[in-house]
Amino acid sequence: MTDPLFGRIAIIGIGLIGSSIARAVRARGLAGHIAIADRSPDHLERAEALGLGDSLHAGADAAVVGADLVISCVPVGASEEVAKLISRDLKPGAIVSDVGSVKGSVIRQMQPHLPAHVHLVPAHPVAGTEFSGPDAGFAELFENRWCILTPLEDSDPAAVEALSRFWRALGSNVETMTADHHDLVLAITSHVPHLIAYNIVGTAADLETVTQSEVMKFSAGGFRDFTRIAASDPTMWRDVFLHNKEAVIEVLGRFTEDLIALQRQIRWGEADRLYELFSRTRAIRRGIIGLGQETPAPDFGRRTDKTG
Ligand code: NAP
Repeated sequence: MTDPLFGRIAIIGIGLIGSSIARAVRARGLAGHIAIADRSPDHLERAEALGLGDSLHAGADAAVVGADLVISCVPVGASEEVAKLISRDLKPGAIVSDVGSVKGSVIRQMQPHLPAHVHLVPAHPVAGTEFSGPDAGFAELFENRWCILTPLEDSDPAAVEALSRFWRALGSNVETMTADHHDLVLAITSHVPHLIAYNIVGTAADLETVTQSEVMKFSAGGFRDFTRIAASDPTMWRDVFLHNKEAVIEVLGRFTEDLIALQRQIRWGEADRLYELFSRTRAIRRGIIGLGQETPAPDFGRRTDKTG
């Protein structure tokens, strides 16, 4: 336990990420008061039963009153709605942040509605699972994962430092970059891989020559790993693609070119080139394991190994 970093923290949206933050804040004693808001009465009921907060609110506006740190943990596409709702009730000097998987769009949605007397410091914890809702969260989710902060050009350095301290206290490593750079990096490391998983699982399900039951019965390790990713929350991922359109389309263009090149290499039996690529990609996985961002265990269906 450390000293509280904030008097009152308001968490808006008590799903996987919001409830993980609430649990970690509670476990580490980082706030005097945790206020929780969610539009779903069922989720508020679960949050109460799980003891996730000190006060529960159906409206985000009520939750942010007196809060020193406000974290929006809703799907990216709901960011503007949240900003509009809370703008009048924010305490002067409060830090307003979020956890969205896309940063440029969240800034464009929230900034125009926030009063000048608060500090917007967007953030993205690169940690998650394919599960959603308040029961899916756990306090250790952010440990040894990266949290990327994308401050605005005129963000108050003290507010950025306070938010960095908060994420480090949750166990994360903190990196700072521009929103545009974040959105490009995440397009290649997270968004396009999810799109590929959604596509391959969709294609397999649609193949007329292979029945659905055969897809399930003979699903090999590679396909099963894709199905885990493709089981991710439909609302969250719909919003990620709609709100990181440019970067995703740019990366997809490059991906498609490389895929066509692979197709040619297979057609023309270019064994050396295939072997060379597969050796390079194997080294990348070893590098990720070496950095402690993955385990070597062939453990399909694990809880904590994917990011949004
Ligand atoms: P989640 O488990 O579905 O939780 C989202 C919660 O927000 C739900 O309780 C949802 O209620 C509520 N909500 C939606 N719109 C709202 C609104 N307008 N006002 C108040 N509450 C609202 O999703 P999550 O996985 O925690 O994702 C939340 C955010 O974290 C997203 O922006 C996502 O991009 C980001 N993120 C996710 C991951 C990941 O792997 N899952 C990783 C890093 C960052 P309903 O169920 O009623 O809609």
